[in-house]
Formats: sequence, structure tokens, C-alpha cells
Amino acid sequence: MTFSKCVCLICQSTIAIPKKGNVERHFRTVHGKYDTDFPPKSELRKRKVKELKSQLSGQQSFFTQQTSKAKTATEASFRVSHIIVNNKKSFKDGEMVKEAFIEAADSLFRDFKNKAEILSSIKALQLSRSTVTRRCEAMAEDLTQQLWKDIIGDCECFSLQLDESTDVSDTAQMCISFVWCLVISLQKKSY
Ligand SMILES: [Zn+2]
Repeated sequence: MTFSKCVCLICQSTIAIPKKGNVERHFRTVHGKYDTDFPPKSELRKRKVKELKSQLSGQQSFFTQQTSKAKTATEASFRVSHIIVNNKKSFKDGEMVKEAFIEAADSLFRDFKNKAEILSSIKALQLSRSTVTRRCEAMAEDLTQQLWKDIIGDCECFSLQLDESTDVSDTAQMCISFVWCLVISLQKKSY
């Protein structure tokens, strides 16, 4: 992790342009009393700086934890949405999956010390109908992009195969298959 910002240890405000002059000006104008309260090179000042440093790193790791929690929750929501769409279920089934997940976890983790924490993570899982819809749209868009980039971008031509038939209930069914042709472009290059 890189910290490109310059943060004041005493008041935690950010100094816009991290230049020596700016930092000095901030210290002199905002913390004029600091030198009197904690005289330079004194043991008191050393201790104060150490304390302020650990406070700041504690806060920063708290934020890192929160961000990684949000990231894992989003990933989980994508994974469940993937299962839902793979099984051709309705987008609104996400809510049912979550309910089942909470019920199962309630007994599965009964004797776990961090049961409350596990349950609250599951409860925070975003699986509403609109969320699942958005996740599926995002995955479909990503897949399309990958296809264009990896395969179709290298093709010179492709073919569509169409076939129509009727099923047992006499309803017309159409099958469309898409065949891309990388071979032709390779052959052309070799001649
Ligand atoms: Zn400050």
C-alpha cells in the first residue's frame, strides 16, 4: 500500500501539496503551542510522537479492514449471482438464497466464538433482485468484452448456423450456433 498523501500526525488533516514549506506553515499556524507543550528533543515529545503514530496507523488499518470487508462482500454477491444465473433461476431468488444461508449458518456456527460476526457478514450480503440483476449484467458485459478481445478480434470471418425444429408440444424451437473462423486468417497469412 502506498500513501501518497501527507497527513498531519497531530490533527490528521491532509496537507494538499506535501512540500517542506507547506508542512512547516501548517505546523507553525495550527500547532503553535506544540513546541511549548512538548519541547523539541524531550522524552515527552518522543513519547507523544510514538503515541500519535500508533493512533494513525491504527485508524489506517481500520479503514483497510473496512475496505477489504466491502470487497469480499461484493465478491460473494457476484459468486452467488453467478450460481443463480447458471441454474437459470429468477434474479429474485437471491433473497431466498440469503435467507437459507442465514438459517443454515445459525445452526452450523452455533458453537463458534465469532458466530455473531459470521452472521452479520451474511446479513450484509447484497442479494436483492436489483443487485443480482446488476451483477449478472456486469458479468455478461465482461464476458462479451473478453470474447471480443480474445477471439473475435482475431477472426476474419464467422458463420452462423441456424436450425429450426418443433418440440413435443409443437412449439417451434430455433437453434443458433456461432462459429468463428480463426483458421482462414491463419491460412491467408501462410500463402
Ligand atoms: Zn495539524
